[in-house]
Amino acid sequence: MTDEVPVLPAPVGAGVYNVYTGGPAGSTVPTAAQLGLEPPRFCADCGRRMIVQVRPDGWWAKCSRHGQVDSKDLDTRR
Ligand SMILES: [Zn+2]
Repeated sequence: MTDEVPVLPAPVGAGVYNVYTGGPAGSTVPTAAQLGLEPPRFCADCGRRMIVQVRPDGWWAKCSRHGQVDSKDLDTRR
């Protein structure tokens, strides 16, 4: 089902919740490119509000359940 989708860490790639609104993800699962521009606010796997830190060169976001994601980790397809 997800074989054509690039693998993203669960807190941004699970596709259960919208990482920007915390609502149901629907058909608007963000891509790595979108995530490079705007940091996620909610865990895509459990919908918890994440701790987000924005840096000049990117961001990291941390879910208390599913761990931390760094924008550097999403740069593998550049
Ligand atoms: Zn989570």
